[in-house]
Amino acid sequence: MPVDLVLNNAKIYTRKGIVEAGLAIDQGRIFSIAKETNLPAASEKLDLKGLLLLPGVIDSHVHLRDQQLAYKEDFFSGTAAAAAGGVTSVIDMPNNKPVTMSPESLRERMGIAEKRTIVNVAFYSAFPRDLGEIESITEEGAVAFKLFLSQMIGGLDIEDDDALSKAFDKVSRTEIPIAVHAEDRETIEKATAGLQKTGRRDVQARLEARSPEAERKAIQRTILLVERTEAHVHFCHLSSAIGLNAFLDAKKDGLPITCEVTPHHLFLSSEHLKRLKTLALVDPPLRTQKDLRALWKALKQGLIDVVSTDHAPHTIEEKKADSAWEAKAGFPGLETMLPLLLTQVNHDHLSLSTLVRATSEKPAQIFNLKNRGCLVEGNHADLVAVDMSQEYEIDASEFYSKAKYSPFDGWKVKGKPVKTLVDGKLVMDGGEIVAEPGIGQVIRRPKS
Ligand SMILES: [Zn+2]
Repeated sequence: MPVDLVLNNAKIYTRKGIVEAGLAIDQGRIFSIAKETNLPAASEKLDLKGLLLLPGVIDSHVHLRDQQLAYKEDFFSGTAAAAAGGVTSVIDMPNNKPVTMSPESLRERMGIAEKRTIVNVAFYSAFPRDLGEIESITEEGAVAFKLFLSQMIGGLDIEDDDALSKAFDKVSRTEIPIAVHAEDRETIEKATAGLQKTGRRDVQARLEARSPEAERKAIQRTILLVERTEAHVHFCHLSSAIGLNAFLDAKKDGLPITCEVTPHHLFLSSEHLKRLKTLALVDPPLRTQKDLRALWKALKQGLIDVVSTDHAPHTIEEKKADSAWEAKAGFPGLETMLPLLLTQVNHDHLSLSTLVRATSEKPAQIFNLKNRGCLVEGNHADLVAVDMSQEYEIDASEFYSKAKYSPFDGWKVKGKPVKTLVDGKLVMDGGEIVAEPGIGQVIRRPKS
């Protein structure tokens, strides 16, 4: 019996380095990686003409919206954006309308996603009001919980350390991670009130209200909870040198913690915020050049586990309010992350192994997405073929995301995702989506 598909003439990124070979796919899985003469007969062949073949990006921080927020993004537009950006699996955040915070709301979201996605989707849940539901939410298939410390989303009172401790303890027994948005609510609210009293409404005020100190405080508070409960905490979007150091200090003590940075905190500083105004508004905010350097250094040293987008689409009207306090934080990122990082690889500023580790291998490990994240026999054939020599300008007006703007609009990049395969099926070819909605799978937490 011939296998379903053979990809010929590729440079394949494997654990042993890059090999010039072909890759055979059968029933959605990698059947073998071998020199052309040793590959099995195939029903279909695709010549990759020397393209670099990487494990598809696993983006563990994505707001796909849909439901009552479908005007910002929906499962189709968001996962089409993912496919265009070389992303084969995303993990969807729970701050939706309705909030994902119960077995029922999770099941409903999964049901909608099943019919509409182009890439694979796994789900976070917020904490339920009744902590007894933590188990049923994980049974339903959530791969992680998300805790926002800057505002209350979900059913858990974030001022109540005892309640947090109980919740962490319960989750630690399910062995799934808790992703934490670490910015201290009280610090932010006090600073905000002070700034508003003086009549400030400029974008710089939003930056001042969310200081690195607010980040450090929330990280340290979370770390105390980890020490008590041994829950695995994954810190989202570390943005400042101060926050990073608080994380690294605790990591040295051997705590079960991991962290993420976003491309915008790696590439953009408060100078960009000054120029781009509320369009570049994001939480936590863009910081100083010194912070950027600290994040890059840690990434290159292998101290940052994950790079993910925090893809957070809003309408352009929501981004542009007269008062910066009213403008929505966040912007799309799925179609820009891989090209931005590949450009750094092209400039010898980042190694390809660090890129693949932070965007595929580690997210698969941390969120327990079984048989994904690296190219070995038996794994899902989630792949992206990139053209390392293609130079182009990012054009946000051509995004698949409903949010057709970006702080990276107009940036020159070198290195482009040109083919994306999800479970062995071609979903993006030369920038075009070539698959029908529903081809992506809902990834559920493996049953224990
Ligand atoms: Zn987010």
